Amino acid sequence: KKLGIALVGLGSYSTYQLAPALQDTKNCYLAGIVTGTPSKAISWAKKYSLAEHCIYNYENFDTIKDNKDIDIVYVVLPNAMHADFCIRAAKAGKHVICEKPMAMNVAECEQIISACKKANVKLGMGYRLHSEPYTQQVQEFVKKKTYGDVTFVSAEAAYRSTGNPDQWRLNRELSGGGALVNMGVYAIQSAIYGTGENPISVAAQEFSTRPEYFKDTDETITAQLNFPSGAIANITTSHNFSANSMYVAGTNGWFKLQPANNYGPLSGSTSDGKILDFPHESQQKLQMDDFASHILHGSTNLAPGEMGKRDMIIVSAIYESIAKGGKTIRLDIPKDYGFA
Ligand code: NAD
Repeated sequence: KKLGIALVGLGSYSTYQLAPALQDTKNCYLAGIVTGTPSKAISWAKKYSLAEHCIYNYENFDTIKDNKDIDIVYVVLPNAMHADFCIRAAKAGKHVICEKPMAMNVAECEQIISACKKANVKLGMGYRLHSEPYTQQVQEFVKKKTYGDVTFVSAEAAYRSTGNPDQWRLNRELSGGGALVNMGVYAIQSAIYGTGENPISVAAQEFSTRPEYFKDTDETITAQLNFPSGAIANITTSHNFSANSMYVAGTNGWFKLQPANNYGPLSGSTSDGKILDFPHESQQKLQMDDFASHILHGSTNLAPGEMGKRDMIIVSAIYESIAKGGKTIRLDIPKDYGFA
């Protein structure tokens, strides 16, 4: 059986990544859409041969509860709309995939998690890297201590934004933040799977060089994280320059990915001369198949909702540190919280 997915929000990520990936998935398929734009409803229905009863707008979305052909609702809207639509999807009895960043704040993340628990539906984050082989290799190196105990991670996730300065990503009310919530979550994730631990404290700095363009949201942030083992991480995120890598130093060597977090193909190498080389597949395809397999066969949920909440706790602490002039903020995240 293949599970039916409905995409909510037909912007660039749905159009150019998720819908094409859903043409190749084994455990799920594109069954429906939810859009506020009537012309998109028509063109998508035609392009993907969607049944008329599987096409919704934001107003009639809640009637999706009566649609047996939709098993999973995938929320791909601006960040400020994630909580509302994830909670409504859960109340409609549908499993939920929520795009990153999970929500506007930790309280909203908790509301999504509890709505899914209450409705007894599964919740996954749109963290595609957990399903792809380079990231899984990193996790295995860390777990097996192939290069010794991890002592340091450097992670960068950034691109240069030059488009419309009024786009939703640069509007705090719709995005919840700038580079940190958009790209920084990848660097936070790299620090966590690069060490295999949740951080215990963080200190952060903000840099602003184009305030006329970034009127409302953070442009560049660096942060240092401390981990229970003594490992440290330095992360950088920006909407002002391009950077995409992770480097992990252990007591016996190092490994790195560059690029580390784009749609791939990723690439990596190690201190003992290995070139990491895995066949390229759509990360989105792997991610959605993994989540559907979690529902169908009980396989591990590789990016559970708690992972999204954990990252939002760290995001909030980074903003708090900046607001307090770079003060170190203690984190109280349980040891395994948010891990798959
Ligand atoms: P986008 O701007 O291309 O699309 C946003 C969609 O939301 C559009 O269809 C738009 O019509 C709709 N929308 C509804 N209400 C809106 C409003 N008030 N303002 C603006 N748009 C509104 O954005 P996107 O790049 O598709 O991103 C959507 C979500 O997916 C975001 O949460 C983003 O962080 C996430 N995303 C994740 C990845 C990933 O690799 N996991 C990649 C890209 C985007």
